[in-house]
Amino acid sequence: MQHIYSVIQSFISLVYPMQCIVCSGEVFIDNSAICPICLDELPYTYFEQSNTDHPMDRMFYGRLPTQFTFALLFFEQNGPTQPILHALKYGARRNVGKQLGERIAHRIAHLHSIDPIDALIPVPIHPKKAFTRGYNQSEFIAKGVGAVLHIPVQTKWVVKCRATESQTRKNRFLRWDNVADQFESRINGTFAGHIAIVDDVLTTGATIEAVVKSIRSKNEHIRISIVTLAITT
Ligand SMILES: [Zn+2]
Repeated sequence: MQHIYSVIQSFISLVYPMQCIVCSGEVFIDNSAICPICLDELPYTYFEQSNTDHPMDRMFYGRLPTQFTFALLFFEQNGPTQPILHALKYGARRNVGKQLGERIAHRIAHLHSIDPIDALIPVPIHPKKAFTRGYNQSEFIAKGVGAVLHIPVQTKWVVKCRATESQTRKNRFLRWDNVADQFESRINGTFAGHIAIVDDVLTTGATIEAVVKSIRSKNEHIRISIVTLAITT
């Protein structure tokens, strides 16, 4: 599947020069979904330079203890991160996930005092959705991070057990219930290493919290970090 996709993409790029998914200008660089100018001007969080707790740390205060949290970009409606997330999720330019995953890796490599990460766990999507979409977008981000930092991406350690019903028809409490028990950890109960959960965009943190709960129910001593491509402002 992946192979066919890259063959088709290589063919298309021979016929049409690749367009930047942010500004629609020409990309110039092979396998890049974003042109160098846009890449320079993306709304980076620079959380890696923060000496104190940053907004993402504060989001998880009292909810779940983490080793570190990191998001590469700020997300705003109609801002440059929007077409990136869209291309990653619905478009044919899913490689943007890997490209920006590599950027994440270079940033978190500069964080001091973090324990080596043993595994990257992309937030799983339901198999039915993976089948219709063909891929899990968070896995692409994790692959980019893993390629640079030489960390394995584990897609079977946490699975999604049931499809999320339409969230809009439910009230807030039912909605939480709906998210809370949809993940199942299959991590060996004796594992006590350091994992990083990888997601595309962080909004309320409810999904990540549900993933962490499923993991902690089996592995009390596991160390957990959270890495996302974007965080909503
Ligand atoms: Zn551009």
